[in-house]
Amino acid sequence: MNIHEYQAKGLLKEYGVPVPRGSVAYTPKEAEDIAKELGGPVWVVKSQIHAGGRGAGRFKQADGTVDTQGKGGVRVVKSVDAVKENAAAMLDKVLVTKQTGPDGKQVGRLYIEEGCDIARELYLSMLVDRASGRVTVVASTEGGMEIEEVAETTPERITTIAIDPAVGMSGFYARRVAFALKLEGKQVGAAVKFLTGLYKAFTELDAALIEINPLVVTGAGAVIALDAKMAFDDNALFRHRAIEELRDETEEDASELEAAKHELNYVKLDGNIGCMVNGAGLAMATMDIIKLYGGQPANFLDVGGGATKERVTAAFKLILSDPNVEGILVNIFGGIMRCDVIAEGVVAAAREVSLHVPLVVRLEGTNVDLGKKILAESGLPITSADNLADAAEKIVKAVKEAA
Ligand code: GDP
Ligand code: MN
Repeated sequence: MNIHEYQAKGLLKEYGVPVPRGSVAYTPKEAEDIAKELGGPVWVVKSQIHAGGRGAGRFKQADGTVDTQGKGGVRVVKSVDAVKENAAAMLDKVLVTKQTGPDGKQVGRLYIEEGCDIARELYLSMLVDRASGRVTVVASTEGGMEIEEVAETTPERITTIAIDPAVGMSGFYARRVAFALKLEGKQVGAAVKFLTGLYKAFTELDAALIEINPLVVTGAGAVIALDAKMAFDDNALFRHRAIEELRDETEEDASELEAAKHELNYVKLDGNIGCMVNGAGLAMATMDIIKLYGGQPANFLDVGGGATKERVTAAFKLILSDPNVEGILVNIFGGIMRCDVIAEGVVAAAREVSLHVPLVVRLEGTNVDLGKKILAESGLPITSADNLADAAEKIVKAVKEAA
C-alpha cells in the first residue's frame, strides 16, 4: 500500500526525521490559511498523488491535452496570494508525470510547505532486498532526478548497503551512508540521526520502501527530507491500523479494490483472456500457458482455496468488468473444494452475468466427472477441457475465432 507524501512526512516526523513544516489542503481557502500560519517568505505548493515526477509533470487542459507550456505539479511561490492562486489552478486538475502514464492522476489534495534553502540535492532510499533478505540503503549524490536514470548513466554514484538485522542501523552503517553522500562536518552527525530515525520507521511500520528524493542539505547545513515516498507490506497491514487508515481509495485501481472486498487476489493486465484460478502458483502457470499458446492474459486472479458460489460470481463479474476480455479460462483444482460445487458455482455465475464471451473450464480433482456433467448439462456454451494445455489451446482458439 502506498501513501501520500504529506502522510509519509507526518510519520517520519514522529520518528525524529527532519521534514519541512507543512499541512495538507483540500481547497484554495485552506491552502491560503495554511500559508498564513506557516509564514513566509517562500512556500511550496505540492500536488499529492501516488506518483513521482510531479515537479516535471504537466497538467491536462480542458480539451484533454497536456499543457506542455504550463507549470508543474510542485511550485515554489513567494506570497500567500500566489499560494491560493496556484492551489486553485492545481486542485481537481489531472497531472501527467513520467510515472502516472498518459492518463495522469487527478489532484485532490495539496501539501503546503515552508520553502527551503537548498544547497545540495541527494538521494536516499531504503527497501527490502529480496536477494539478501535485508533492509538495504541506496544512497546517491545525484538527488532530484530519477534513480533509474542515475543507475543507467552514472552507476558509480550509487552506493548500496545491506543492513544486518542483528545490528540494525548502527553508527558504522550510518556514517558509511553519510560519506557516500559526501557529507562533512556536523552534517555527518545530522545524517546519522536522520538514518537512525528512518530505519526505525522502516522496521517498526513494516515498510516495503521509503524513498527520500531529494534529501537536501540546506544553506545552514541541516539535512532534511524534502520529498518522501512510503510503501507498506500489505501482509503486515493488519498490525498497523493507523496506517491502513491512511489509504486513499481514489488512488487505487477500482477493480483491485473490489477484488480485495471479496478476498480475491486480482491484478489487471493488458491481454484479452480473463483467467480464474485457485492458487497463486496455478494462476501464474495458467498465464504462462496462455502465452505459450499465443494468447495474452487479461488478469491474474486467484480465487483462493475456499471458492464459494458467491466468490466465483464476484470473480466472474470482476473479469468481465474489463472491456478487453474476449474469453475466459477457468482452471480449478478441486482438492479441498469439490469439482461439482465449483461447477455449480461457475454455471450460476455464468447465468447471473449473462456470459457473452467464450468460456473454457478445466476441472481436476475430487468429483471431477460429476463437475463436468453439471457443466455439460447446463445448456450454457461452456467448453470443457481435459488438461491445462488443452484448455489454453481451446480458449486461445475460441477467442481468435470470435474476433
Ligand atoms: P517530485 O517531482 O514528485 O519528485 O516532487 P519533489 O517533492 O521531489 O519536488 C520536485 C523538486 O522541487 C525538488 O527536487 C526540488 O528541486 C524542488 N523543490 C521542492 N521543494 C522546494 C523548496 O522548498 N525550495 C526549492 N527551491 N525547491 C523545492
Ligand atoms: Mn521527488
